Amino acid sequence: MSDKQVRVRFAPSPTGKLHVGGARTAIYNWAFARANGGTFILRIDDTDPTRSTDENTQIILRAMRWLGLDWDEGPEVGGDFGPYSQTERLDIYKKAAQKLWDEGRAYPCFCSAERLAADRAAAQERKDPFQGYQRNCRNIPADEARARIEAGEPYVLRIKVPEDRGDVIIHDAVHGDVTFNARELDDFVIFRTDGTPTYNFVTVVDDAMMGITHVIRGDDHLSNTPRQVMVYEALGAPVPTFAHISMILGADGKKLSKRHGATNVEEYRDAGYLSDAFVNYLALLGWSLDGETTIVPRDVLASKFSLDHVSKNPATFDPKKLDWIQAEYIRTLSDADFADQIMVPELHEAGLIEGNVDYDEAWVDALAAIVKPRTKFPADVATVAAPVFATAETLVYDEKSVEKGLAKEGMGAILDAARAALDAVAADDWTPEAIDAALEPLPEALDLKKRVVFQAVRVAECGNMVSPPLGETMALVGRADCMARLDRARTIAL
Ligand code: GLU
Repeated sequence: MSDKQVRVRFAPSPTGKLHVGGARTAIYNWAFARANGGTFILRIDDTDPTRSTDENTQIILRAMRWLGLDWDEGPEVGGDFGPYSQTERLDIYKKAAQKLWDEGRAYPCFCSAERLAADRAAAQERKDPFQGYQRNCRNIPADEARARIEAGEPYVLRIKVPEDRGDVIIHDAVHGDVTFNARELDDFVIFRTDGTPTYNFVTVVDDAMMGITHVIRGDDHLSNTPRQVMVYEALGAPVPTFAHISMILGADGKKLSKRHGATNVEEYRDAGYLSDAFVNYLALLGWSLDGETTIVPRDVLASKFSLDHVSKNPATFDPKKLDWIQAEYIRTLSDADFADQIMVPELHEAGLIEGNVDYDEAWVDALAAIVKPRTKFPADVATVAAPVFATAETLVYDEKSVEKGLAKEGMGAILDAARAALDAVAADDWTPEAIDAALEPLPEALDLKKRVVFQAVRVAECGNMVSPPLGETMALVGRADCMARLDRARTIAL
């Protein structure tokens, strides 16, 4: 690597939302910048005015924020090399093209679409391996070209690929050396008839002016790269290091698309994936820390990411692995962090806790301890915690659970015995341990199976058979309401 300060960019086109493939490219650029003490630039490639929208730009910025990929230069933060939207840089592109034209490195071409089609057909006929532009207008004298332009003849501007350029070798950091024959490169268009510049031109003008040292992007752009190298050379700008990262495939080996499920970042956010887990998962699609570590927290990624651990093989998107990583992130949160980051916001969202009600910290932590192991996605919190926030009147009894665990002969006797046992637990001793100890002897005393007894009490207290541990839940609910629940359930039990 050169000793130049690393400058990288992520340059999405706002023609749609942020796709997981784009997000992974963004993550690699961000991590590469952070790991090298470099600069991460966000540039909006909105040169296609018919398909780019401000709304999509806003969605992309929001997704970048949610992913936690802070950019050092770009929209909303500014920087010394702006503006950072291509539509605002048209004058810059015009000047750059004019300079190349003045220097004889670009030239106007007046060929009509019909002429180009006829040339292509003729090349096919004679089985010419090169079927691109035949360079008809390369040698039109400057005076003649000027006169035709002044007479209003439409033209495009083409780059002049030097005759003697030879092979163009891309030293790709992922793919190794990739060789293209310069003779097969078109003198491609850099400005269209309507005065708009093309992708291969503007990208290089921007990357050169913004001092980009490493271009990390999807390998669908590898075939554009030799043309872009021609633009760097014409501009007299240093060619950056390229790193083309592999495609992301679905389980069927085809390019990841809607057919495989969610493909936009915001769909994952809305489904309740944690940003940290999602970034960790995407980072591993084509990069690895050491070939085996699966949990790579953001700070490790930002210090250890390197291009030599990026694979050139396509990566397969595996939703099961993503879910596993998500579960790991939730599992390893402390109860207090789980409460702060996930549980309390979800309880607010679900209206289970209100604005300023001051919950006792120990109570919140105790709740987190039983809710966390049952949470795969943040939205599970409200379901798991619902019995705790209910009252004897509002508790919802699950029909199936009642049928199986409560509305059966002999269940009334269980509830009566439970009530008597719990009555003996003093209000200031209402702890999970005391509750469990009070209920413990019941199966033997009633000569019933443990499962039957506890199922009946569980349904009575929690409304269902799958709630968190009984003693813990009842302690959180409080003594008075637990008793009232037993009384209500007694009217159902036989
Ligand atoms: N705007 C291009 C894209 O979204 C950027 C390609 C590049 O990184 O050069 O594919």
